[in-house]
Amino acid sequence: PPPRVGEELKRDFPGLVTSSGKPWHYLDSAATAQKPRAVIDAVTKALGTDYATVHRGVYSRSAEMTLAYEAARRRVAEFIGGSEDEIVFTRGATEAINLLAYSYPDKRRVLLSQLEHHSNIVPWQLAGWQVDVCPLTDDGRIDLDAAADILTPDHAMVAFAHVSNVLGSVVDARQAAELAHNVGAKLLLDGCQAVPRLPVDVAALGCDFYAFSAHKLYGPTGIGALWGRRELLAAMPPWQGGGSMIDRVTFEKTTFAPAPQRFEAGTPAIVEAIGFAAACDYVANIGLDVIHAHEARLVAMTREALGRMNDVTLYGPDDSAGIVSFTIDGVHPHDLGTILDEEDVAIRAGHHCAQPLMDVLGVPATARASFGVYSDEDDVAALLRGIERTKRIFG
Ligand code: PMP
Repeated sequence: PPPRVGEELKRDFPGLVTSSGKPWHYLDSAATAQKPRAVIDAVTKALGTDYATVHRGVYSRSAEMTLAYEAARRRVAEFIGGSEDEIVFTRGATEAINLLAYSYPDKRRVLLSQLEHHSNIVPWQLAGWQVDVCPLTDDGRIDLDAAADILTPDHAMVAFAHVSNVLGSVVDARQAAELAHNVGAKLLLDGCQAVPRLPVDVAALGCDFYAFSAHKLYGPTGIGALWGRRELLAAMPPWQGGGSMIDRVTFEKTTFAPAPQRFEAGTPAIVEAIGFAAACDYVANIGLDVIHAHEARLVAMTREALGRMNDVTLYGPDDSAGIVSFTIDGVHPHDLGTILDEEDVAIRAGHHCAQPLMDVLGVPATARASFGVYSDEDDVAALLRGIERTKRIFG
């Protein structure tokens, strides 16, 4: 059967109705995606009839759970074209980037861009890297020509958002990898907004590290992954100590398990990992090409309608992946968000954890509508109706 996106698929998502049972026009999938029944059921089963710890138990339930947990790692690896021993489960993208920033052995200069999320800025500062910043093009892409001019052999890392959470712009990852490698640096892609919207294959992209969160991919909160090239992970020391990450412990000296286990101290997010894998299955089953085309159509529709309003400023490029940021003259984005909420339309208003980007755009905040597999024309129409009403209220 043809893949189902948009309206037909809404039935899979119990979260898409309001408390009074009306359709909820959820346009905040870039913050976190709603969960399909397949994920909810997988999590319920893992937390219920299948529940046990992993990696320790001598009884069969724990052995089965260990197999399921490691199968989840394999599934997540396959989803982005990596291998299972290169996937570190983390609490999310934020923790993945912190892990890399703290544990990477060669902390010199890192090149970020002006559009990065705070979680791809602050960890580098805290871990003591010297931070350089790549500017953007006029239409809100990372300016790779400028990056080429900035990069020096003193740069050990380039860390860019694969897709901007504010502008939706997609970086040319292959070119970014080439630029980084030309000076001997590694490339981390923050894939939070890319994995739910684009086919991602880390081998084809040529990056060295890739970070993402399950909850933006229709999976549970509390889990994400850092993918890293095998030899690079092997050269990184552990950054948190505890159970499960060791080889042998004495009071004099501890030796560590190989990667990825050495980066997973403590009882892991077992249930969440299983939900993560179920989310990969769900998304792969629809197909990322299909999802990308679907969201591109909704973006084009929304940008076209907003572009006709002469009091609206649109940010980001026309080929933005699933995300539309805008401001309306004389209306604070928070006021727009509040009025839209009365119409059962949920958008995000604020700095989107990208204050340096707001400074570049010269605004304190933007309104952001972001799409998911379940978004459809009705959601766009409800957004546009709400915007018209807001403008009438503000006269
Ligand atoms: N990077 C980007 C581009 C994001 O959109 C987000 C989430 N808004 C993050 C990083 C951080 O992800 P998390 O909060 O799930 O760790």
